[in-house]
Amino acid sequence: MTQYELYPLLFEPVLKDYIWGGRNLEKLGRKLPAEGVIAESWEIAGHEDGTTRVANGRFAGKLLAELHQELGLDLIGSRSAWAQERGKFPLLIKLLDANRPLSVQVHPQDDYALENEGNELGKTEMWVVLQAKPGAEVILGVSHAISQDEFRVAIKSNQLEPHLHRIQVKAGDHICVPAGSLHAIMDGLLIAEIQQNSNTTYRVYDWGRVGADGRPRSLHVDKALDVINFEQIAPKICPPEPISDENGVRRSLLCQNEYFVTERVEMAAGSTFSGNCTGETMEIWGVMEGVVSVNDLVLTAVRFVLLPAAMGKFAIIAQSSATLLRSYVAA
Ligand code: ZN
Repeated sequence: MTQYELYPLLFEPVLKDYIWGGRNLEKLGRKLPAEGVIAESWEIAGHEDGTTRVANGRFAGKLLAELHQELGLDLIGSRSAWAQERGKFPLLIKLLDANRPLSVQVHPQDDYALENEGNELGKTEMWVVLQAKPGAEVILGVSHAISQDEFRVAIKSNQLEPHLHRIQVKAGDHICVPAGSLHAIMDGLLIAEIQQNSNTTYRVYDWGRVGADGRPRSLHVDKALDVINFEQIAPKICPPEPISDENGVRRSLLCQNEYFVTERVEMAAGSTFSGNCTGETMEIWGVMEGVVSVNDLVLTAVRFVLLPAAMGKFAIIAQSSATLLRSYVAA
């Protein structure tokens, strides 16, 4: 066991200025630079393209990647031993301001990423809609059966849009996006994203626009066609599945895959969730609405906290009615 006293970890976000961003992350309490657009706030990240620093306690100032190296499985848990072997922190947590549509894209599965992108992980992800303009949409899957060749022709001839499956979403909705899903987050959405720790995107369509340098951003059509799941035809988004509802704490399952499980936990004011990190998995909790305490930390929406796998017992107490996301790695 560890000689450290482990505790709930807060992080300083890392901001990304991709072209589709805006200024809306201010509404979620993020401090933005005086000018320009911000698309993503990486809230908990240990990736070579961005790694967050611990903001509290004895590890304050350390990069997550450094802390991971120091604590190993005590931080991420024995269920993530495979990620440890590859020197990878398993998950990446972000907030997104889709002020303009994101490109239509797909992410690779693990084996494809390992083979074609160095030591990169695949990217299964999920989105939780925090705010949405009326009629806001996402794209997920294809709208009807289409072959790889027909899809390639549609990209080349700039006729892709009729083949994209659009879904209207509103605040509170969640969308599970397995690796291989053709997808795009459209404009007018503020989203919390839980995903594998990967930054590999294959873009197939960018709405005819140009990047900051005035040129079209590159497409990655061949790789995209390798990994797109063309059997994902007009998928529906699934409602949350009730898990339990007792003593003012209502849990429901949002997404479950081999990389992470995410629950929504709705807490009445004054209620308590008691948990135990026994070494198998870290837990990442995000306060989406309300105010809670996590052991002796007080957290106000929107904020994520990482509970190290070997931390032991913890208690979350709702100071007001609160909605949280709880993510961990399944057995
Ligand atoms: Zn994506």
